[in-house]
Amino acid sequence: MLRVAIDGPGGTGKSTIAKEIAARFGLEYIDTGAMYRSMGLKALRTGVSPADEEAVSEMLKDTTLDFRDNHMYLDGEDVGGLIRTNEISMAASDISKLPCVRAKADELSKYLASTRDVVMEGRDITTVVIPDAEVKIFMTASPEIRAERRYKQLLEAGKPADYDQILEEIQKRDYQDSHRELNPLRQAEDAEFLDTSDLNMEEVVQKVSSIITEKTGAVPAES
Ligand code: C5P
Repeated sequence: MLRVAIDGPGGTGKSTIAKEIAARFGLEYIDTGAMYRSMGLKALRTGVSPADEEAVSEMLKDTTLDFRDNHMYLDGEDVGGLIRTNEISMAASDISKLPCVRAKADELSKYLASTRDVVMEGRDITTVVIPDAEVKIFMTASPEIRAERRYKQLLEAGKPADYDQILEEIQKRDYQDSHRELNPLRQAEDAEFLDTSDLNMEEVVQKVSSIITEKTGAVPAES
């Protein structure tokens, strides 16, 4: 089995790197953040407050999540195009504190990781979901660098962007994700630490590839 687990705060490039690693090593890419985002989306759509644990728990009894071929399905609907907004980022972070929400995402994530070779990314993959993964990486970058990357991405997409506001949101989400009671973001003792602040995408992919090869002997099929 080859399971590559990557954790780290938002905006470090985890998704881009994980997708590229999946392609090069023939693994399935699993984005666990999309599961929390989908539950956040459903709460917003149905007017359920993330602070109301009982209402969220009721909502989840009637909710199905699936992640297939790089697509996130909420109750059978492909919601990939709807869950990348700032509003949903905060809703996901708010709702992810709740035990019933974490249990729902964990169940799917653990099932996926036990039935195929994966590269899975999130906040608690190396510590809770696959603590015995063959490769564990903690990826980070300074909040300022992450805000700048996001700012440039938005401008390139022709969307309005305010650097200070982006930085503030990143810092707020970092704080929430690393200070919640249940499964907060933290570096597993045996995870490799990778600071991407001064690296471009190809450099990070190369570093992650070397770690995988060193730990498991697996080599990339293409580059
Ligand atoms: O990774 P992404 O930014 O899409 O995650 C959205 C939110 O989902 C995070 O801010 C975090 O609160 C939550 N999350 C989590 N555990 C994971 C993945 C995401 O709590 N494994």
